[in-house]
Amino acid sequence: MAEHESLEFGKADFVLLDNVSMEEFMSNLKLRFEKGRIYSYIGEVVVSVNPYRAMNIYGRDTIEQYKGRELYERPPHLFAIADAAYKAMKRRNKDTCIVISGESGAGKTEASKYIMQYIAAITNPNQRAEVERVKNMLLKSNCVLEAFGNAKTNRNDNSSRFGKYMDINFDFKGDPIGGHINNYLLEKSRVIFQQPGERSFHSYYQLLKGAPDSLLRSLHIQRDPTAYNYIKVGGQIKSGINDGADFKAVADAMKVIGFTGDEIQTVYKILATILHLGNLTFGVDGDVTLIENTKLVSVIRELLSTKEENVEKALLYRTVATGRDVIEKQHTTQEASYGRDALAKAMYERLFCWIVGRINDIIEVKNYDARVHGKNTVIGVLDIYGFEIFQNNSFEQFCINYCNEKLQQLFIQLVLKQEQEEYQREGIPWKHIDYFNNQIIVDLVEQQHKGIFSVLDEACMNVGKVTDEVFLQGLNGKLAKHAHYTSRKCRTLAVSKVKIPNNKDTLFQDFKRLLYNSSNPVLKGMWPEGKLSITEVTKRPLTAATLFKNSMISLVENLACKEPYYVRCIKPNDVKSPLLFEQERCRHQVEYLGLLENVRVRRAGFAYRQTYPRFLQRYKMISEFTWPNHDLPSDKDAVKRLLQGCGFDHDVAYGKTKVFIRTPRTLFSLEEQRVEM
Ligand code: ATP
Ligand code: MG
Repeated sequence: MAEHESLEFGKADFVLLDNVSMEEFMSNLKLRFEKGRIYSYIGEVVVSVNPYRAMNIYGRDTIEQYKGRELYERPPHLFAIADAAYKAMKRRNKDTCIVISGESGAGKTEASKYIMQYIAAITNPNQRAEVERVKNMLLKSNCVLEAFGNAKTNRNDNSSRFGKYMDINFDFKGDPIGGHINNYLLEKSRVIFQQPGERSFHSYYQLLKGAPDSLLRSLHIQRDPTAYNYIKVGGQIKSGINDGADFKAVADAMKVIGFTGDEIQTVYKILATILHLGNLTFGVDGDVTLIENTKLVSVIRELLSTKEENVEKALLYRTVATGRDVIEKQHTTQEASYGRDALAKAMYERLFCWIVGRINDIIEVKNYDARVHGKNTVIGVLDIYGFEIFQNNSFEQFCINYCNEKLQQLFIQLVLKQEQEEYQREGIPWKHIDYFNNQIIVDLVEQQHKGIFSVLDEACMNVGKVTDEVFLQGLNGKLAKHAHYTSRKCRTLAVSKVKIPNNKDTLFQDFKRLLYNSSNPVLKGMWPEGKLSITEVTKRPLTAATLFKNSMISLVENLACKEPYYVRCIKPNDVKSPLLFEQERCRHQVEYLGLLENVRVRRAGFAYRQTYPRFLQRYKMISEFTWPNHDLPSDKDAVKRLLQGCGFDHDVAYGKTKVFIRTPRTLFSLEEQRVEM
């Protein structure tokens, strides 16, 4: 049990509940939230409830309180598990990872930033310049990634629309020497469309609000976001965000990170190009498709440093190879619009990946020779989009939810496995526990030939012939017998509403060639595959679903070989109120995060465990045999004697290095005796 916390704030660790029931869990969670205790534990898992107000618990003095301490010595906090992950990495040379989960708006990104700040604050005691540089880059990269990858949604004013896994590398002294970011599936449909009340990515509004007049003039852009079709929906929205100030902060961060002037200019040009593209309209003259606002084509040509005819041609025609012949096929207005939107989305997505790549170039570990310096260890921080269920769920939501199922699976495996291993290490027998293993749902999605992704891919090969309905029939045919296809648990995948086109999502080769042929080397560099001529592009590209599945599988493999730490975030209400704890809303999250099961697993054997010396430190005053010091051969013997003396011997097991206590009541009773002394 966490020290220095009285029961007036509820139980700091859910493992210590008198009964493991949903009711007790919820009332403890609520009590703690209302008392301003936003963090709790389930063993070593942090449960966090978004406070929706500034908390005075992240300052320098708090950092000092957690530095180098054991988890249970201080009230639950993100800093405590950041420290635990850091210690494991430093003392035991282990690669560790911190997996942060929870639904949109639950506080994952904020948590990941506090964790990084903590690690930055406790490292590099000698102020080595190179380490300071790396730390600065790692922290600055957040602001750039958020500008391009986050957006205001109806659930969160600063919602991450991509998944992020960041490795921080440490040298043998435990100081950060570099890092690497992996990004997952940017929600690029947002580039061309937003739901009412939502915005596109922050980057656009920052540019329009914060850029100096001269820059906007050179981009042929006006300040009013409602002048642009692609961001119009969100154009009027007043958000709590200061776009103007953020523009400058992001520009500065890009400079500090090491983006060149040309690179930064190209970034702005791409944003501007996309805005102009959104205003392009197509018409027909006889049987000729044409662009109605030709002036925009000149502007786009200028921004992309290409030839005007090429822009027009790429928008209106498509080169196709039929056998040996290469012909140019004119688009219908519908096809042209589809191509324009695909181009806008692809340019933005590519820009985002390129930014991540540039950051990686700069933060990656250089000149580190493990033979000289010892093993280079890693702490990974995963901040990935949480479950999202809407009335209409797009392909992107489907991927997001699949990703969460996959992480839940990993959680189940690792928490159980860790527990099992601890028992083995300590020489204590392990007892089997029942829990819902969602592997079956993961399989339903990803299995070869018969999983949902496979059926989807198959349908996409026949686009044109296959409609969403046909796809659904295919799914029903193949999967109807599956126990979970229509079960409630699988409905989190909301599969029935998946739309096919998003998966296929092809960008005509003509566009790739257009961008590759730009005389702007930065832009050209983003589109290396534009080099290929149409006859060389024979391989069918992997579908978005397959790419995403593969990236999730490798993410999970990567996490599975590290020692995991978990933060489970809960969103207390839908109105961003610091006061409101919506019981049903929270209960639902506790359910799908499997927190109750987590408590059960943790308690199935023993609710509490502590190393012998630490246990003595806390309770030795209870027994005459141990106070002030014991003369027994070992601390283990002393703990035995102490517990026998209190009559608790039947409720404990003695491991090699730790004492295990079965029921929380025993621990409370020890605590009480301690207080009475
Ligand atoms: P998404 O999945 O949409 O990216 P998220 O889980 O990353 O959501 P955050 O962006 O971290 O959610 O948090 C949403 C908002 O909640 C923050 O912008 C902030 O206003 C508030 N918030 C979250 N955590 C804290 C905290 N520890 N202290 C104060 N406010 C917080
Ligand atoms: Mg986020």
